Amino acid sequence: MLSLGTAEGHQIPLIHAVHDDDEHLLNTLDGEWFEILHDFRWEAYRQFAADYYNALYDFNQLTTQPAAQSEDNPETKEEARQRLLFDRATAPRPTSPPAPILYQGAGVEPKSQDVRASDVAPGVVPLRLAGRKPKCFFGLLKGFIGASLMGFAAEPEQVHLLLKSNPAFARVCGFSHKEKDRADYHYQQVPSLRKLEQFDQIMTDAGIWDRIKLSEVRTNLATGVIRPERDLVGDTTHYHAYSSFETVRYEDDKGNEQKKSQSKPTKHCRCADWEHCPHAWELRDAGAGTIVKSGKKMIWGHKASVIGLPEQGIAIDAIAVADAATHDGQTFFPHVEKVLGDHPDLAQSIHRVLYDSACDDAALKQRFEQELGLELKASFNPRRSKAITEGLPRGMEKITPYGVPICLAGHEMDYQGIRYANETFIYRAPHGDDGLSVCIGCRERPQCCNRASASGRTITVSFDTLKHIDAGDPPMAKRFTAIMTGRPSVERMIKRLKCDLADERLSKRGRVQPVVRARYAASGVLKSESLAAFPEARLRDSRWMRNAVNSSQRPLR
Ligand SMILES: [Zn+2]
Repeated sequence: MLSLGTAEGHQIPLIHAVHDDDEHLLNTLDGEWFEILHDFRWEAYRQFAADYYNALYDFNQLTTQPAAQSEDNPETKEEARQRLLFDRATAPRPTSPPAPILYQGAGVEPKSQDVRASDVAPGVVPLRLAGRKPKCFFGLLKGFIGASLMGFAAEPEQVHLLLKSNPAFARVCGFSHKEKDRADYHYQQVPSLRKLEQFDQIMTDAGIWDRIKLSEVRTNLATGVIRPERDLVGDTTHYHAYSSFETVRYEDDKGNEQKKSQSKPTKHCRCADWEHCPHAWELRDAGAGTIVKSGKKMIWGHKASVIGLPEQGIAIDAIAVADAATHDGQTFFPHVEKVLGDHPDLAQSIHRVLYDSACDDAALKQRFEQELGLELKASFNPRRSKAITEGLPRGMEKITPYGVPICLAGHEMDYQGIRYANETFIYRAPHGDDGLSVCIGCRERPQCCNRASASGRTITVSFDTLKHIDAGDPPMAKRFTAIMTGRPSVERMIKRLKCDLADERLSKRGRVQPVVRARYAASGVLKSESLAAFPEARLRDSRWMRNAVNSSQRPLR
């Protein structure tokens, strides 16, 4: 209830807690989002709030100052195409220094440091920002977190829609709806779509989303919500790009003409004459590239790398890949290195990393061992598609590329082990449902073992016949299969990021969606397990960019 002591002429607190209603909502609303937002531990986010207000101040300063005029940029559009092509991580020639494989956020250090963590709290916004009071950081943050807790995309459009249409959500975030006869701005009113877009943009550019993500995962590890494990598992996932591409022709080292798909060049200024204005050409959709899927299917899109803990099925980190055309075998090492650097405590427990066959590469395994002290286990990549049909033991029809012999009667031989003295792999005929060898009563016996032994046929295959299989780590071995059972859990993590957390499309790269579920799971508020965060690929040419340019004369709140 409102206190009767509100002095005449003072603004009545619009978000004064109305406990009866909140109690009612806590008991009736389906879903944990209301509880989490209601009991939001804002104290943990004070430093992020201060950083945001400082970044907002810098942003306002920047947009009110006219851009300095510099020399004309003499680069033509075609020159820009070639420069941008040769700057990519998948450029025809390696650049020096090499282009980073993973997307590196701008990481802009805020210039102003005036707002301190102790200055801010929900509903308490710093006074330094001249003009109209800005919207409360905590309310905006709760808006984005709440949207994802409800299973919607944490995108400005979605947050806006929810705040507008769901009064309980708006109130628990600390916003009120505009009164009918009030036309003017008030900082506690539900923010406009433009304000939400600005918030998202500033949070992205100042790297605050990214730091919130790290802080959540670190807290979860420190408080035991996420337990350390021995293995890490990784994979990549793709997102269709909502942009067009062109085929750029270039000359390779030998002078031959080659082709590569690339996003079109553009400028982000609003000059009338792009041919002569001083601004630089940039890719319209930086990071987009051709992704080759199985069956030679090609997708124009963005790529993200995801790393998690297989036993708990929890994603620890997700990051956009700088150039989607990068092969999966190249993204895993830098990402593991980053995750271990971000979480030194976790690094203590990790001994092994799992990946699919894209990382089945001896040089890469050696690099993991030498530089990170980790064993890389990858699904076996036979690098051949045809079965082996020559030089086989009697009674065998073929040996699959995965090293499994199939006999004339169609049975798969069971791998038994290695006889190092003769450099051979040993296999034995399997046992049927009755527990007896399938060889007993087999019609192919005259061509095969032709013995009445109850143990069935045993064969040996020399290392030379299976040259493509590493005898030191044969993929047929039970141990290998047992280790690799943890790998598919990353598919479930990706599904959860994309579907349950509604991150099915990337709209901004480097933006991370913080999910606070895990933290609350510890307190018993939320039973479901947690997710870390998600980066998004940026479409620089988004509507928000254009809006920002259109309204650059006005300071932003
Ligand atoms: Zn320009």
